[in-house]
Order: sequence, then C-alpha cells, then structure tokens
Amino acid sequence: MSARGAMTALAEALSTQPRYRFATLPTPLTPLRIGDARVWVKRDDLTGPGMGGNKLRKLEFLVGDALERGADCLVTVGAAQSNHARLTAAVGAIAGLPTHLVLGGRPTDRPQGNQLLSELFGAHSHFPGTDDWDELEAAQDELAVVLRKQGHNPYPMPIGGSTPIGAIGFAAAYDELMSQCATRGITPAAIVHATSSGGTHAGLLVGTAARRRDGDPTPELLAISVAKTSEDLRAHAGQLAEATLTSLGLADAFAPGATVEVDGRWCGPAYAEPTPEGDRAVVHAARSGAIVLDRVYTGKAFAGLLGNLAEDRWGPAPEVVFWHTGGQPAIFAPGGCPPTGHGSGAPTVTNAR
Ligand SMILES: *Cc1c(COP(=O)(O)O)cnc(C)c1O
Repeated sequence: MSARGAMTALAEALSTQPRYRFATLPTPLTPLRIGDARVWVKRDDLTGPGMGGNKLRKLEFLVGDALERGADCLVTVGAAQSNHARLTAAVGAIAGLPTHLVLGGRPTDRPQGNQLLSELFGAHSHFPGTDDWDELEAAQDELAVVLRKQGHNPYPMPIGGSTPIGAIGFAAAYDELMSQCATRGITPAAIVHATSSGGTHAGLLVGTAARRRDGDPTPELLAISVAKTSEDLRAHAGQLAEATLTSLGLADAFAPGATVEVDGRWCGPAYAEPTPEGDRAVVHAARSGAIVLDRVYTGKAFAGLLGNLAEDRWGPAPEVVFWHTGGQPAIFAPGGCPPTGHGSGAPTVTNAR
C-alpha cells in the first residue's frame, strides 16, 4: 500500500500541470439500488458551469495549457449536439476567450439543446455542411489558419478534447473518486462509463495504472462504446493513456498488455442513433433515482451497466460505480428524449430502493 498522507506519484505529477480551475469539484457520489446491486453514481453531470459534464474536467487542463501558451481564442470541433463544444463555449465565456465551434449538421434559425447554450455563451458556430469527422477536422484546421492570418493565436482542440493534456483531467478525477470511496469505505468491483473520443477512458486508465504502481487494488474499468468499433476505441484509449503517462513522467506505470476493456454491445447501429436498450435505461434511471441520462452517451452506458449486472459479471450483490458523464442538454434537442408518456410503450419501473 502507498503511504497515506504522503502524496502519490500521480498526485504529485498532477499538481505541477497548468490548470484553469472552474469546475465544481469533487462531484457527488450518490447511491442507487438496482436489484441487489449497489450502484454509486459519480455525478459528473454536476461539474458546474455551462450545465456540467465530463468535458469540463479535460477543459481545466486544456485551457490551463492554452493560457500558458498565450492563446487568445479557443477552437474546437464536434457533432451537431456536441457537449464538448457547448462546454468549450462555456469555458470561453468564463475565461474571456472568444470561442469558435466547427459543428456537424446544418445551421438553424432556432438552435436547440447544446447549440442553443453555445450560442447563449457567445460562441461563433461554423457549419461546413458535413457530418464526416475527417472533413470537420479539416474545416477546423482551415479555420485555425484563417485566425492566425488575422493575427490571432488560436488553441485548437480535437473532438472531445481528447489529447494527453485533456486526459489528465480524468486521471485527476480517478483520484477524486478513489478518495471518496476510501472515505466511505466503498470498494467498487468496477467503474462503468461511456466512451467515444477516448479521453475519459484514457484518463481513468492512467489513474488505474498509477494506483497499481503504488500497489493499491483497483476496480475493473469497463468502458461502454457509444461510437466506432470497440477495437478502435480500445487501441486509441491505450495509446492515449500511454502518451498521457509519458507526459506526466510516469511512463513506466503502464505495463505492456495492460487490460483495456471496451464493451461494444450497446452502441447500436451508430453514434447518436438511439437503441431500445438505451431508451429503456434512460427511463429506468429517471424513474428509479431522478437521474437524467441522454440517448447518445449515458443512456447507452447505463444500458451496458444493466446488461452486465443481468449477466452477473460482478457476482452477487456487487458494488459498482456508474460514471455519469453528463449530456443532459441533448435531451432538449429534437429527438433527444425517448418516448416517456404512459401508453407510449415506455417501460414501467418499480423503484427497488
Ligand atoms: C464526450 C462524452 C462522453 C465520452 O467521453 P470521451 O472522453 O469523449 O470518450 C460521455 N458522455 C458524455 C455525456 C459526453 O459528452
């Protein structure tokens, strides 16, 4: 066991990173009973400004880096209802940095959900008229070139803010969760969360690796894919975790072949396409604990949690953490919420608590 009280190697490495603090941390850890399982919901939907979500944790380190580099505006890219774009706009408003968003979909006269909030926060939204990731990223690169020609010093961030610097936010989050668990005497069998651009997963992998290096026990990390194939996501998260550890000076912590687990069974046909299991999970969480999930990320991740519990993955009466990564504004976008009305076919849920 690592010496309690003495700073861990990870905590020490994190403390030297530039960080622009604006999130409300730590986020609550709230209990939810599902059958005989005790689920601890890590409420990163409550990270604070801009209506919260996991991206704020990455943005604390990304914007810290941007400010250190003397950036005078933020640029990022995402899907039409990108939570990351909305939270970048929020941070831009807090830090006083003009923010440019390159978005999928098409502009509308009446933006909704995340787009509405991004506009409200004063961001400039650009619509290149494509939903293709490569084309969106190319449009972001072009925009950065134009901004530089105009004499600006933009700080571009990729989809989801998933760089080694962004992932540091989730290495810190892992430590935050582990100390909450230690204080309350919780030893979860697993941490379950949604994965798409991989930064959340990578950061949690870094936290896990660093803790193992200190000889401490670690919960299983189970990432539920909501985009791409689980093979791609697994490889990407592993690489990003290694790069993050290297940038923190902990390169030796990530054992070759360390398990990087992605459960790809809950994504459905594609990113942002609703699934019946995901929709049932959204209604279940809402009616068993007033936990608001979305159809794109957390609903599918919660469906993965319910599915793995039903398969007895963690044995009888397990304790697990569900990392609620946010995404609530998407509920208010067109098609963002599953049918909820009685008689709509939505399942009835009995609160088992
Ligand atoms: C971005 C996002 C995720 C996935 O996080 P990544 O770091 O991109 O894998 C999960 N849930 C919500 C609500 C998100 O916005």
